Amino acid sequence: MGIASAGTWLRQGLEGFLSLVYPEVCALCREHPAGVQEGFVCGPCRSAVQRVLPPFCERCGLPPSGEVSGRHACAHCRDFRPPFESARAALIAKGPVLDVLHRFKYRGELWFEPFLRDPFLSAAVPALCSDAWTGLVPVPLHPVKEREREFNQAEILGRPLARALGIPMECRLVRRTLPTVTQTRLSREERAENMRDAFQPHPSARRIQGDWIVVDDVFTTGATSGAVARVLLELGARKVVVWSVARATLEGGLLPEDAWESPGS
Ligand SMILES: [Zn+2]
Ligand SMILES: [Zn+2]
Repeated sequence: MGIASAGTWLRQGLEGFLSLVYPEVCALCREHPAGVQEGFVCGPCRSAVQRVLPPFCERCGLPPSGEVSGRHACAHCRDFRPPFESARAALIAKGPVLDVLHRFKYRGELWFEPFLRDPFLSAAVPALCSDAWTGLVPVPLHPVKEREREFNQAEILGRPLARALGIPMECRLVRRTLPTVTQTRLSREERAENMRDAFQPHPSARRIQGDWIVVDDVFTTGATSGAVARVLLELGARKVVVWSVARATLEGGLLPEDAWESPGS
């Protein structure tokens, strides 16, 4: 909650305030000019950002490490069919994208929002706008974590997508029930198993219908967003797709996963 939900007037006030407090210089390289509209990231740093482009696994969106032709599914998706219909991301999680995501999420540097939101919307909206979606669910934080952090990054990024698609964002369908799941030494399958119990229907959840979108900031193995998708399917959703701002790839060096799907992240 907090800043992100407080309306345009507050945002404008905040932007004015930030531009007074912070010099109009890129927050990453500290060399080139960059203002609040650009999320304080300059043109050269933006051009170092890599978008996720096809070909990729038609299920989980993973770009292949070698040559493939046409539609394909990666080895993981062939072996363990994930509960979501598809997962897509706008950007490859490396370089400035990782840096910004980390500062946005763990240090509350919310002025980076446009840097993440703009490429996210420009990839997700065209891909989603021709279908009829019932609603959007941001991956929930554990309530204790959300109270500490004072915002949920998935909510901040999901809200403008819901608005662009003209659908509701629902934060009271799924809740995170396990605050401390240590994933560090677990295999991919064990992580998925571990995550399965980390999300439950929210106490005030109702039965749902139709097609749903789950939004997260980073997609690593899909264990987290897959677990949220599973709850929505249990509640009655017909299908669930996942959209993330950034995605771990083989080429980008598969992530410091612990940093990204850490306890209650
Ligand atoms: Zn820069
Ligand atoms: Zn896959």
